[in-house]
Amino acid sequence: MTDFRDLTTLRVGGPAGHLVEAASREDLVATARDFWASPDDWMILGGGSNVVVADDGFDGNVLRVANRGVDRATGGVPRIRVEAGESWDAVVAFAVSHGLSGIEALSGIPGTAGAGPIQNIGAYGQQLSDTLLAIDFLDFESGEVGTLQAAELGLGYRSSALKRGRLGVVLSIELGLHDADGMSEPVAYAQLASALGVELGARVPLAAARDAVLALRASKGMVWDPADPDSVSAGSFFTNPIVSEGFARRLPPDAPRFPTEPEPAARVLPLGSEIPAPPAPASGQYLVKLSAAWLIEHAGITRGFSLPGSAAAISSKHTLAIINRGEASAAEVAQLAGYVQTRVESEFGVRLQPEPVLVGLEL
Ligand SMILES: Cc1cc2nc3c(=O)[nH]c(=O)nc-3n(C[C@H](O)[C@H](O)[C@H](O)COP(=O)(O)OP(=O)(O)OC[C@H]3O[C@@H](n4cnc5c(N)ncnc54)[C@H](O)[C@@H]3O)c2cc1C
Repeated sequence: MTDFRDLTTLRVGGPAGHLVEAASREDLVATARDFWASPDDWMILGGGSNVVVADDGFDGNVLRVANRGVDRATGGVPRIRVEAGESWDAVVAFAVSHGLSGIEALSGIPGTAGAGPIQNIGAYGQQLSDTLLAIDFLDFESGEVGTLQAAELGLGYRSSALKRGRLGVVLSIELGLHDADGMSEPVAYAQLASALGVELGARVPLAAARDAVLALRASKGMVWDPADPDSVSAGSFFTNPIVSEGFARRLPPDAPRFPTEPEPAARVLPLGSEIPAPPAPASGQYLVKLSAAWLIEHAGITRGFSLPGSAAAISSKHTLAIINRGEASAAEVAQLAGYVQTRVESEFGVRLQPEPVLVGLEL
């Protein structure tokens, strides 16, 4: 039996009950339907870079998504269709080598393309929702394959309707990219602009953007590489908390704050009517994104920190990543994550939320 420690980038987790790898769309659909017809629990696994499974493992059916392939549609807006099990970074490399912009800042994110919409992957000023057009989806409720438009997926900051509980399998994704003569989208992240030696908003050759992102990521242990102990992680372990403007005002003045628009309230409109723009939020109703890394550091937890006797640690290159320094157990990872949550909550009153999907573990 294969252990999740061999299937996930954090290298923790016990046995994967009944593991089936599906290398084609047809296999994916048939296997998922078989699993759903059985009374046993089931789960979907891509590259295992955003899941943390308990030391007891998962005693059910595990469907590993491994259908691959990238196709460029001809004519019109440049579109590419990617099978769900394709490596995400291979998709970015494909786009860059074809002179297509829109995902170059997402270079180096580990895992599969099909997992991208689950948490709306994002980095260095781009997120998947900027370019995602649609997904092909096998729906658990209906058992049918259909196409869901990106607007139906409720994509937000590191979240989607799929992450929030809509069950099924992403079979493929379709992206709408831009043909900008080999140039990138405007650089939208200060650290990336500075690494490239340009102003925010400048366009640079696509390959230069990709190389700069990969170099920045490597310097933070954010390119998964077993030779770099600081990258043996599930990426950022916590999301940046989103709080009310009033709450954010009570934090120390130097705490980074990024204003975000509030979620528009649900409105009921007669069928066929035009959808009016949402009303501007009143002062005090804006939501503010905080920096989880700042909160952790200012709660007194430094890079490289670990609890006594534990092989789980905070990365020495990136405060947000919890790493496995060798033989860490999932319990040790959860203990460290819980400790970080408690320290930040007692210092600032904010409960950090884990970014990876936890299986058999609670925080
Ligand atoms: C070093 C490192 C750096 C990272 N940096 C970033 C970053 O910059 N930005 C970012 O957003 N993320 C980052 N991540 C997190 C991770 O790479 C992404 O979330 C990635 O999309 C997960 O892909 P995966 O195939 O490994 O998914 P998995 O970890 O295998 O699965 C994640 C979740 O998606 C579900 N899932 C996977 N595939 C499918 C499918 N086809 N259909 C339905 N459900 C599915 C799984 O059931 C699970 O709930 C990083 C991770 C690591 C290890």
